[in-house]
Amino acid sequence: MIVVLLGPPGTGKGTQAKLIEERFSLAHISTGDMLRAEVASGSDLGEKVKGYLDAGELVPDDLIVEMIAERIENPDAKKGFILDGFPRTVPQAEMLDKMLENRGLAVDVVLNLIVSEDKIVSRLSNRLYCPSCGRCYNLSTTPPKREGICDGCGTRLVRRSDDSEEVVRHRLQVAAERTAPVIKYYRNQGKLVDIDGEGSIEEVFSSIISVLERVKGKEGRG
Ligand code: AMP
Repeated sequence: MIVVLLGPPGTGKGTQAKLIEERFSLAHISTGDMLRAEVASGSDLGEKVKGYLDAGELVPDDLIVEMIAERIENPDAKKGFILDGFPRTVPQAEMLDKMLENRGLAVDVVLNLIVSEDKIVSRLSNRLYCPSCGRCYNLSTTPPKREGICDGCGTRLVRRSDDSEEVVRHRLQVAAERTAPVIKYYRNQGKLVDIDGEGSIEEVFSSIISVLERVKGKEGRG
């Protein structure tokens, strides 16, 4: 099963992707996490993309597509995968379709998480992030058990440099201009399912489970 998770920053894509990864045994592919790891390692790619990430701008399509093409060749992706944060532009979506078609594959379903802008800004200003495993916490609704420490791997949590209110507003504007057309692209393909992302983590996940169980059932019947 190949699942795309769409939704502006702060709609819970990363959190839901981790739950889907566990429940459906799919590989979680987050372009944001991959890019942050490149920046942290000081690689050539990291140097190239750092400025885009700090400013909340999109990294050029060709760099991202090359990164994804390599990533889906990894053996763990053979069992199927969830794309989190990709595609973010129509050219990326078109290139993904071609890339999959060449491998005899296709996107099965696109989940579009919907959350109001006020809620997004409040979620992101309360967000802490684990730079090691990528897990996110919300200081008011889902704080870590030990202050400032990741429950999963014990790493010290940080605030993402692009979670300041100014950069968040800009990221939302970029999402509205560049990523909204991707929603239309998948709606036209009949693959888009809107998910109300305002509820609790469990409520949103339960809506996602029913959609994915249906998709899996259809796949099983061929
Ligand atoms: P995220 O963690 O998904 O919010 O992504 C953080 C940042 O990484 C974005 O603001 C972009 O600078 C960059 N990024 C992540 N995914 C993509 C993508 N598919 N296309 C272009 N830039 C991306």
